Amino acid sequence: MNSTRLVVGSGPEAGTVILDMGQGGNPGLVMHRASLLRELLAPIPQELLHTNKKLTTISPTAECVQISFEDGSTYIYDAVIGADGIFSNVRKHVLQDAAAEEWSATPAGFWDSRILVSYEKAKSKLGAEYFELDRQFGWVGDRAFIMHDILENRTMVQCVISAFESDPPKDRKRSLTRESLTETLSSWLGGPIAKGVIDLTLDQPDPQGYSQWEHKSTSSYAKGNVCIVGDAAHAMTPWQGFGAGMAIEDAMVLRKLFANIESPKEIGAVFKAFDAVRRSRCERIIHSSRETGLIFCGQNEEIRLDVNKFRDSLASRWECIDAIDYQSHEEEALTYLKEHISGK
Ligand SMILES: Cc1cc2nc3c(=O)[nH]c(=O)nc-3n(C[C@H](O)[C@H](O)[C@H](O)COP(=O)(O)OP(=O)(O)OC[C@H]3O[C@@H](n4cnc5c(N)ncnc54)[C@H](O)[C@@H]3O)c2cc1C
Repeated sequence: MNSTRLVVGSGPEAGTVILDMGQGGNPGLVMHRASLLRELLAPIPQELLHTNKKLTTISPTAECVQISFEDGSTYIYDAVIGADGIFSNVRKHVLQDAAAEEWSATPAGFWDSRILVSYEKAKSKLGAEYFELDRQFGWVGDRAFIMHDILENRTMVQCVISAFESDPPKDRKRSLTRESLTETLSSWLGGPIAKGVIDLTLDQPDPQGYSQWEHKSTSSYAKGNVCIVGDAAHAMTPWQGFGAGMAIEDAMVLRKLFANIESPKEIGAVFKAFDAVRRSRCERIIHSSRETGLIFCGQNEEIRLDVNKFRDSLASRWECIDAIDYQSHEEEALTYLKEHISGK
């Protein structure tokens, strides 16, 4: 990818370029989700993968953990690491009764719709000028945000419409119609991008917008020999594109911690150290991501739709994610591990 270009999408300044993020530095990589999953799964031996099994209960025994699945099977392991997503069963076990209310996932205040269309179709509908480089475009504006990026060796384009949501539906989804989209994007229709993206979205069978939910805070990522990672621990909005990145960081830290213990008796200390080092970083990014969404949708009180203020605030917005030295992060985790093993 060349860069991410942020442009004003609504109002009289529609079309004004705000900034190119990543140009000259690290522009990042945009990847189709299915391709990322395929690459992550490729090195794992087939005999370790068991699909179509739904975990139902977790019962800690004296030194182990028994887990049961919907198909009636049960297993006993030294530990359980739950990566079962935002509405995780393992999370409910870790947080116990508190999970149901105080720490459960809640709406973040936005919905979005994501579609994949062929490269040629997107190019002809949105305009060839946006496809000269492998560039991601983010269009910021009044109560909404539009994004498009090129995937799969220039064969596919992802188009996203996100919007501010003040009335989250109970089932977390809304049907999208021309009427609802033109109302949501009413101040965008005179600009260069909204009409094309609306047409592409409505060309899909049964287009839907999905509410974004998040874990605003979590009291612990671990209980005994059970731990939660990824979205089970820290589901966040997609505004800074880092939910999966945080899950990968979790795996990196756990790998380091497990490499530094000598007995299953120390697994509880591993999970305590994991919680100590990861939770503050993840919660900071969850809040930063939501705040980034408010800025992108023109809802930040200070910035609103002022192009110069957008530029100033967005240029440094990713520092809270990027300004980390992973070696130090792992060392910090090991320091906590030693403290927990020695019982401090
Ligand atoms: C719209 C959107 C856009 C996003 N964009 C980005 C992005 O650009 N960049 C980025 O880094 N992140 C992004 N994310 C976040 C990213 O998708 C998540 O952070 C990531 O998928 C989390 O991975 P996970 O494995 O923890 O959870 P999930 O991907 O949710 O996987 C959980 C798995 O657990 C399974 N499961 C659930 N319950 C059970 C059970 N009881 N028993 C057994 N299995 C179970 C589910 O079937 C699923 O396979 C986005 C998220 C959304 C919603």
